Amino acid sequence: MVSHKPSYPGIAAVAMLAVLPLLPVPPFWITLVNNIGLASLVVIGLVLLTGVGGLTSFGQAAFCGFGAYTTAVLTTAYGLSPWMTLPLSLLVGAVVALPLGLMTVRLAGHYLPLGTIAWGLAIYYLFGRIEMLGRYDGISGIPPLSLAGEPMLSGSSIYYVIWSFVIAVAIGAQNLLDSRVGRGIRALRGGVQAAEAFGVNIERAKLTVFVFAAVVAALSGWLYAHMQRAINPTPFGLDMGITYLLMAVVGGSGRVGGAIFGASVVLILKEILQRLLPGLLDTTANAEMIVFGVLLVVILQFARDGLWPLLQKWLPARPPRRLPVDGGTLGKRQMPAAGSTLVRVDRVRKEFGGLVAVNDVSFEIKAGQIVGLIGPNGAGKSTTFNLITGILNLSGGEVSYAGEPLSGLNPRLIAERGIARTFQHAKVLPGMSVLENVALGSHLRGTAGVFRSFFRLDRKEEEALLAEAAYQLDRVGLSAYRDRPAGDLALGQIRILEIARALCLNPTLLLLDEPAAGLRHGEKQELADLLKKLRAEGVSVLLVEHDMGFVMGLVDHLVVLDFGTLIAEGKPGDVRQHPAVIAAYLGSAA
Ligand code: ADP
Ligand code: MG
Repeated sequence: MVSHKPSYPGIAAVAMLAVLPLLPVPPFWITLVNNIGLASLVVIGLVLLTGVGGLTSFGQAAFCGFGAYTTAVLTTAYGLSPWMTLPLSLLVGAVVALPLGLMTVRLAGHYLPLGTIAWGLAIYYLFGRIEMLGRYDGISGIPPLSLAGEPMLSGSSIYYVIWSFVIAVAIGAQNLLDSRVGRGIRALRGGVQAAEAFGVNIERAKLTVFVFAAVVAALSGWLYAHMQRAINPTPFGLDMGITYLLMAVVGGSGRVGGAIFGASVVLILKEILQRLLPGLLDTTANAEMIVFGVLLVVILQFARDGLWPLLQKWLPARPPRRLPVDGGTLGKRQMPAAGSTLVRVDRVRKEFGGLVAVNDVSFEIKAGQIVGLIGPNGAGKSTTFNLITGILNLSGGEVSYAGEPLSGLNPRLIAERGIARTFQHAKVLPGMSVLENVALGSHLRGTAGVFRSFFRLDRKEEEALLAEAAYQLDRVGLSAYRDRPAGDLALGQIRILEIARALCLNPTLLLLDEPAAGLRHGEKQELADLLKKLRAEGVSVLLVEHDMGFVMGLVDHLVVLDFGTLIAEGKPGDVRQHPAVIAAYLGSAA
């Protein structure tokens, strides 16, 4: 069962929040905590975008501006009630984010943060130039929020509204991370190739997290407008954009709790600095930004994951999930008729500049067969895998699958057809649990999108996807490591993890690139038994492996490559006697 028991520190924090305004605290405390709440909303978005997704944005303050100006204009000029403008403010945030996101997330490396600085600045000046938005004076006379006819005029009344939204968004964001969509987002940082090979639409995952971050920033802006009841462009400029990023960095990557923590630390620090610095530096103009800049650099140098993980050590760990391992409830693919031609590799060619890595190679894989692909290092085996799975484009020839050409399809569409693979250089997300890494493989067997995930309406499906992952882990013998980070595993175990992930796709064809490397003798035996069992179930396997003993006892058909060229194929016993094969392997270990 996937259950989230409420944690005691969580309950304590909520209880503390609930009573704070009732205590005799100075009003500026309440204002400070309100500001922390507003910033937390933006930073939760940034944690997902930057911390989890790896897409750095300096421009989030601009989206607060869209939320704030939308409600300011609609309530003052058009007399709409504040609650009516809430969905409209969020919508404007999303609608602006869509084209900006489409442009921005395509930028690679340093161009991406630079891009966000560019539009962050542009939007700030835009707010300041538009007559309808009151230019740099902004808009005043914005009505307060009201509940049951009572206007919320004081800081302590809107306090509850702000923090209700913060808690709701924090829970929703955590739900999102713990979902099918969330695994795709988490793969954006360092796992793109593996995610695509299992059907994650990377472009869409990037855009989803970008729009999500923009919408929660717009929500923060909407709340801000009704708290201040007057706005101008200043809080929506680059200064604030940088401050939000600092909060996310202080809070640290991956964790939603870190967002609230980071917002608190930075805003309290800002409060203190604004009192101290003018006396020290003889200036009043945003001197805290100097300290913030230094702090940002220091944290990035010495505590990449922020300060939250240091604190998190003291909090109780999430209890491991209990999941059935008796086979999934997910729908299964129809296996092709045994013996029919499943894959036809037809005069396939790949050139890298002048190097011909795969030289007009042709062979077939019949349904229910294990085909071995062997050859010395550099023979073109992995390149052949990449050509079949769409990671590389063909220079010539054609690959067809169940009679249909695969040429031109991207890895995601090829995965949809039932082709799953492992990588010679293992591609797992080391910080994610073994179970979640494997569950990435069942991505295409679920349908939940961002809304269902955010509101936790995906639980039944999510449970089935995780149960499938648990089942496949059990099958490959890695159950004991299920809740450990994948980075804890030995290299041989990571290869086995990749097989479990591939099996989660419910493949008709499994491509294994040196799966037995790094395994001990007994483990190789278990792997061979598993592959035989899969063959009996109708799964076809294309296997690259250097251990000839392992290959010979297992495969139905053997294909030998040397320098990109097919030099022999046939039954393993016959191929072994082939003079060209003996020549190619002469002096090699095999
Ligand atoms: P194998 O898996 O059989 O050891 P590969 O398919 O990895 O061999 O590589 C075949 C040849 O293609 C090698 O000479 C390798 O250096 C070259 N090669 C592989 N990938 C690339 C690439 N992306 N760019 C340039 N050369 C490559
Ligand atoms: Mg290789």
